[in-house]
Amino acid sequence: MSVTAIKGMNDILPGEVETWQFLEQSAREVFGLYGFAEIRTPVPEKTELFCRSIGETTDIVEKEMYTFEDKSGNSLTLRPEGTAPVMRAFIQNKLHNLDPVSKLYYLGPMFRYERPQKGRYRQFHQLGAEVLGVEDAKIDAQLLAMLHQYFVHIGIENVSLQVNSLGCPVCRPDYRQQLIDYLASRLNSLCPDCQRRYLTNPLRVLDCKAQGCKAATVDAPAVIEHLCTECDSHFSQVKGYLDQLAIPYSVNARMVRGLDYYVRTTFELVTDQLGSQNAVAAGGRYDGLVESLGGPAVPGIGFAIGLERLVLLKGEAKIAAASPQLFIAAIGAEAADRAFVLMSQLQQAGVRAEMDYLGKSLKAQMRRANKLHAAFTLIIGEEELQSGRAQLKDMSDSSQSAVELDNLAIELVAKFD
Ligand code: ATP
Ligand code: MG
Repeated sequence: MSVTAIKGMNDILPGEVETWQFLEQSAREVFGLYGFAEIRTPVPEKTELFCRSIGETTDIVEKEMYTFEDKSGNSLTLRPEGTAPVMRAFIQNKLHNLDPVSKLYYLGPMFRYERPQKGRYRQFHQLGAEVLGVEDAKIDAQLLAMLHQYFVHIGIENVSLQVNSLGCPVCRPDYRQQLIDYLASRLNSLCPDCQRRYLTNPLRVLDCKAQGCKAATVDAPAVIEHLCTECDSHFSQVKGYLDQLAIPYSVNARMVRGLDYYVRTTFELVTDQLGSQNAVAAGGRYDGLVESLGGPAVPGIGFAIGLERLVLLKGEAKIAAASPQLFIAAIGAEAADRAFVLMSQLQQAGVRAEMDYLGKSLKAQMRRANKLHAAFTLIIGEEELQSGRAQLKDMSDSSQSAVELDNLAIELVAKFD
């Protein structure tokens, strides 16, 4: 049997890849407007980076990481998310010495050992952005404005922004205890996972998808009712700026994030079109993270968009692959040689040119030109070789015009300018 790809890891084929390129190119354009620069980090990192940042009791660290030993016995992990590696690179390269504010974005594959299903894969791609060095609520609002603009730019409008605040190390411990007390009196209704984690990670229970847990936590205390004065005012400012920028959002007091490092502003972009894989993008503030990883006390905020889910949402509105501008059909070996040189000259001059390499009949060559949606075709046979002239056919209206083969590149470049 032939070798297949690993379960949950997909090929992205021509025909689909154009949508990916469009989403990526749009991100570079929109994020560039907001002053973000790209950062690329390695795919594997030391395992401890993720344990220390994401949190030992999170789903990712408990059960989803691709962790393995290399030949020297070091424990490595294929990155399950992008924030921790970016923080590691920020600290290691002392980026805060270059500029007090860093705006970074990344784009690339992430790995999580999850049950593959629509919108959930084991290798998937995230497009993420991080701002380091600003505590001010303006940056929270600006990041959300950028996210909003990106979705408008790529033409996906059936998503809604939900925001919440998770408090900070001053106010959360109190809230956490209240939540534990609340959950303790309803333990029997919780799923086995939540019964196990309600003491170590009670906020996760609010995020659990099990019906019992949802029902049991309907009246659970909400973190935004228990914010300290600073967190409360920060959250009010974020909402105020979003209102001023006319960014639509709603407050979801039950939203918590599955990673331990989040504080204050958290948010998700959700859709009702992808079943239970309803989060298209998610993020929040992580003010203590850089310091906890051994860096300076620099506040941060970021988001990650799941690209597979965007591609699913784009659905039918596929982006077409670029078709050839000219297809050169040749009759006979000598004409094929001339066609080959002509085609190469055109490509070098910036024209998308194509020909037949399989010795097909003229009829078959013309069929292929049609199939590829070539804008123009040119037929070269014995007569054309001798006269140095040929008929250039415009496939949109079948009109023909005579061209000098020697001038072909110049004429075609002018046509497509
Ligand atoms: P979910 O609740 O769907 O498991 P998550 O909270 O684990 O999402 P994050 O860690 O916040 O997701 O990652 C940000 C985004 O990355 C998600 O909103 C989603 O679009 C995407 N994503 C996460 N896990 C996967 C996956 N296994 N396959 C495809 N996309 C994913
Ligand atoms: Mg998940």
